[in-house]
Amino acid sequence: MSGTPSRAGHDPTHPVEGSSDADTLVLAAPSAIGGHCPCSREAHDGTAAATGTSGFLRVAFTRGGLSPPEEWVRAAGDGADVRVVDSTPCSVGGDESGEREGEKGVVTVTASGPANLTDVGVRVTDALDDMDVTAGDTGGGSGGPVCCLGSLTALLQYVDAREAYRFVNAVTARVASLGGSTHAHIEPAAHDRRTIDTMASLFDIVAEPSSAGDGLDVVRSRRR
Ligand SMILES: [Zn+2]
Repeated sequence: MSGTPSRAGHDPTHPVEGSSDADTLVLAAPSAIGGHCPCSREAHDGTAAATGTSGFLRVAFTRGGLSPPEEWVRAAGDGADVRVVDSTPCSVGGDESGEREGEKGVVTVTASGPANLTDVGVRVTDALDDMDVTAGDTGGGSGGPVCCLGSLTALLQYVDAREAYRFVNAVTARVASLGGSTHAHIEPAAHDRRTIDTMASLFDIVAEPSSAGDGLDVVRSRRR
């Protein structure tokens, strides 16, 4: 059966970028270079906003995750809707939530922090709704947003696995309803096998950085 986890490293015919509509669990921390984010290449090409993707959303649980991939920032400069929900503990903006313009074209919204997933969820939903409206206004992208959750390892320091699971499940469902895809980052060395498997069950694909260092290899897939 196709559900059996299997290593696919020997088979390079499954580039993650080719499956931009698949939800993916990335076994690596989010990186500003973007190599560990599926779909960052379409932004790099500058074609994403026009041809399908209505926006890019990073939900950041760490300071390091606050900066979206360079490719996204470049896409923002070209008019793509790029947003960051700042869910880091003790956000720079203090207790106040609000929008601010950071890197050119990137809109950052401050949420309460990882321990308050209800608030984070509201900010994420608001951002996705705004993107949806924006996409309609421009008459372009019929495709949905690309959502990056980085990282679950940081999130799991503040909430238990069940709460994190519910949050990720809600976000992936919401993004999917808009025709988009979600990927999340998790650092495998920081968790036991069961936690990784639980989180992986929410995603179509599990991927890890390729040994060549220039992308992602699919570790397992339950897509047909
Ligand atoms: Zn990412």
